[in-house]
Amino acid sequence: MSEYKMWIGGKWIGAESGKTYPVFNPANGMEIAQLPLGGKADVDKAVDAARKAFPIWSKKPQSERSQVAMKIASLLRENAKELGMIDTLDHGTPVKTAAATVAGKAVNFEWAAYNARSLMGHTVPQSPNELAYLQHEPIGVVALITPWNFPLSMILVKLAPALTLGNTCIIKPPSIDSLAALKLAELLEKLELPPGTINVITGPGSTVGESLASHRGVDMVSFTGSCETGKQIMALASQTVKRLHLELGGKNPVIILEDADINTAANAMAARQFSNAGQICACPGRFYVHEKVYDEFLEKFTAATQKLVVGDPGDEKTDMGPLVSAEHRDRVEGYIRSGLDEGAKIVMGGQKPTALPMKNGYFVMPMIFTNATQKMKIAREEIFGPVAVFMEKFNSDAKVIEMANDSTFGLCSYIWTRDMARGMRFANEIAVGTVWLSNALTLAPELPWTGYKESGIGEENSLYGLLEYTNLKRVHVDLTLTK
Ligand code: NAD
Repeated sequence: MSEYKMWIGGKWIGAESGKTYPVFNPANGMEIAQLPLGGKADVDKAVDAARKAFPIWSKKPQSERSQVAMKIASLLRENAKELGMIDTLDHGTPVKTAAATVAGKAVNFEWAAYNARSLMGHTVPQSPNELAYLQHEPIGVVALITPWNFPLSMILVKLAPALTLGNTCIIKPPSIDSLAALKLAELLEKLELPPGTINVITGPGSTVGESLASHRGVDMVSFTGSCETGKQIMALASQTVKRLHLELGGKNPVIILEDADINTAANAMAARQFSNAGQICACPGRFYVHEKVYDEFLEKFTAATQKLVVGDPGDEKTDMGPLVSAEHRDRVEGYIRSGLDEGAKIVMGGQKPTALPMKNGYFVMPMIFTNATQKMKIAREEIFGPVAVFMEKFNSDAKVIEMANDSTFGLCSYIWTRDMARGMRFANEIAVGTVWLSNALTLAPELPWTGYKESGIGEENSLYGLLEYTNLKRVHVDLTLTK
């Protein structure tokens, strides 16, 4: 077992308190590391370092910062296997996908590198005697507060635009899954950036996260996580009117129309539902299936679910590993109990494995509920686990759209039909940031990712996302003045 340090101001240091906390392998419950228990004093140090680095980093030519981003892309590809193994160890990401997920984020740095170099300002034709022009400037010190569901990737999608555009960054990774962030800092150390350009602090959200969100020296918080925490961060950040970017939860409606390709839809949606053990913001949250194809879809979805290999995430054959922690497993089990208490029916799954080695890990077997109704907790709240929730059958387009929109969330939706005009009418009516029409998850740095309603504020990725990390300045020049 190793003891780790935090990366602050270009140095590896322990927590000011001298304390550490344990992290565990979710596949077997064994302690794997002790991490520094960062707190307010460590946040003060990191903010101080990041503020000192800002005038140096932000004044580098964009071409130079873009070259750094390109080098980070190469480092990610070269080290994807090792970084992926760390996600497998402390998060339970199956090795089958772990390295490719990390390597896939290299593109975000390349994309940011190219696009930051062509991020042009504008001139405004206000008056013949005056030039008014607009320019994008980095914001300052940005705190990146990220969740555990993709421990490294969630950091990388924020770090790519924030750093490339000239901001200095304080990464606050999820306390239980911080090892990959520390490994990333070790790789970035080789780039010899001005000390404090990138900092990593480990520790709980209630101390490190809150100190960052309320700190006067932090100019922006870019947060991905739960709605509950997002609201707390908004309240804390309001004290200093910080720029906020929030990517929050979802309870995403899947609508299967009677003319859909049922086979393709069932297989794609089962893969999406149980990927990362359901711990994905874009995970299907509620299945609405037309009465004419309900039985066929459920049967095929169940068959696809039964084929999933659940087990040791370190095994190449495994499709689904454990949940991230004992605490989170208990939370998911609480939702399962609530579904049963409120009258939903179990088609399959939901049990804890009883045999070793899975017995000691935080596993919940893939589960399917049917007969859920709009008012049930399992239909309203984000379960964030391997639990598919089938709502009662529907037979009216207008009614299903109303039910799909009856949610505080508005992240994304999957609509399956062969009639694209009908599908596009659904896409227009459903209040979410992303709609997949007869298609499943596609993410790319050039495509925006955003939430409606309580699913978030601002865009991740795309040119819109790049601009989130800039201030827009307007400059007026009087052309009549001569020396
Ligand atoms: P979380 O909100 O519990 O924690 C996220 C981060 O915030 C962690 O680093 C945590 O330590 C920190 N934090 C916790 N309390 C804090 C506080 N009071 N002040 C400041 N920081 C605090 O979320 P989680 O359980 O790690 O992740 C799961 C959630 O993330 C789900 O709701 C999921 O939908 C959401 N998510 C959303 C997206 C998206 O793009 N919309 C992507 C991934 C995950």
